[in-house]
Amino acid sequence: MRPFPRDFRIRAARIFVRRNSGTRTRVGFKPVGGMYISFATNSDSQRGRHMAETRKTKLLIIGSGPAGYTAGVYASRAMLDPILVQGIEPGGQLTTTTEVENWPGDTEVQGPDLMVRMEAHAKAMGTEIIGDIITDLDLSKSPFTAKGDSGTTYLADALVLATGARAKWLGLESEEKFKGFGVSACATCDGFFYRGQEIVVIGGGNTAVEEALFLTNFASKVTLIHRRDELRAEKILIDRLMKNPKIEPLWFHQLDEVYGTDNPLGVEGVKVKHTKTGEITDIPCKGVFVAIGHAPANELVKDTLETHMGGYVVTKPDSTETSIPGVFAAGDLTDHKYRQAVTSAGMGCMAALEAERFLAEHGDDEGKDTSLPLGYGAPVKEGA
Ligand code: FAD
Ligand code: NAP
Repeated sequence: MRPFPRDFRIRAARIFVRRNSGTRTRVGFKPVGGMYISFATNSDSQRGRHMAETRKTKLLIIGSGPAGYTAGVYASRAMLDPILVQGIEPGGQLTTTTEVENWPGDTEVQGPDLMVRMEAHAKAMGTEIIGDIITDLDLSKSPFTAKGDSGTTYLADALVLATGARAKWLGLESEEKFKGFGVSACATCDGFFYRGQEIVVIGGGNTAVEEALFLTNFASKVTLIHRRDELRAEKILIDRLMKNPKIEPLWFHQLDEVYGTDNPLGVEGVKVKHTKTGEITDIPCKGVFVAIGHAPANELVKDTLETHMGGYVVTKPDSTETSIPGVFAAGDLTDHKYRQAVTSAGMGCMAALEAERFLAEHGDDEGKDTSLPLGYGAPVKEGA
């Protein structure tokens, strides 16, 4: 059973205490001899959060993952004085993991620590970083209008969308019932609660394998349930998984039902179904970690921008330009193929450079209807 209410979440790197919508206190801790946990305070301007103010900027960056912060670094150096809105997950997906071993220049770095460094870098270059969540976006005319959960309205001549991706769920009724009470999509957030317990992990990608490995720090046994007999994770991770005596893979199985107690709400086990025979097997466990992939966080733009492949924002080839001129998309929001921190950062760089060129050409187009792209959207000439 999980001893805290749903909105009091312990993350490996931080404790989030959500006081109310959009108002968050972030603190860090580092237990002696425990896993690495970095200290981080919520950045910059929480100021003006409760006031309905309007902020005008040349460039608004939405999202604080590797794509957003990199866009901030480049846009600041181009003297665009960007504003970056962090969203509900400051630092993005890498704050939900521990070791990152494929960030160039660091043989091993803790995800949350890397993101604190990226934030500091963007800030040092001149990016204004704001703890707010964009709830509504009007792309119909220039300047674009973004409404913040804080009440602030942001007006921007150009936009970098870097809202990343969010964990997918299986969609089972019983999964929903126990979400936050034994069912989780974040091992580094919730693994701590399962010391000495048996746990199952669902999925066969990098996230599932990494989560299974991480959970062996706490659990007495981890069963990795995968619908095929082949993992799509990196070879080095598969190798570690297979060598770990606490992990038992269960091939050709799908989660069928999570069951448990109602009062208090808590998981007691899962029923899994063989994908070929349909046979149901019961696995007693206290925790269920769903790691079946991520979907693009496209809520703000799914009705206004062109999307494909299950909601990823379409960008022009070799570019971060979207179907609306002046709106650029970077990172996992647009990338259905690579979905890595380094590729997201690369796209953040591209988006800032493209926004800079766009603003140099169209900075004075205030009031222009963006559905009439005359003069917009034409390929930027080399050297322009
Ligand atoms: P994200 O990191 O997803 O960040 C999105 C940002 O957008 C967040 O800050 C969020 O708050 C913000 N946002 C969303 N909606 C709004 C809104 N409405 N208003 C304002 N802000 C908003 N990749 C690697 O290269 N190496 C690894 O070792 C690795 N490990 C991983 C481990 C796990 C458990 C996971 C889940 C992913 C891992 N990845 C790894 C993948 C990597 O984290 C992503 O590819 C990368 O973080 C994507 O960066 P991003 O900037 O596009 O978006
Ligand atoms: P992923 O690579 O898309 O893998 C999702 C896994 O879940 C697949 O094994 C898939 O099975 C399974 N799955 C999907 N839907 C399912 C369903 N309905 N029921 C049962 N199983 C289901 O997602 P991910 O592992 O979250 O990784 C996302 C991205 O982040 C990837 O690009 C990954 O490389 C990156 N990432 C990188 C690292 C790293 O570099 N160390 C760590 C974590 C994530 P099938 O295989 O049968 O399709």
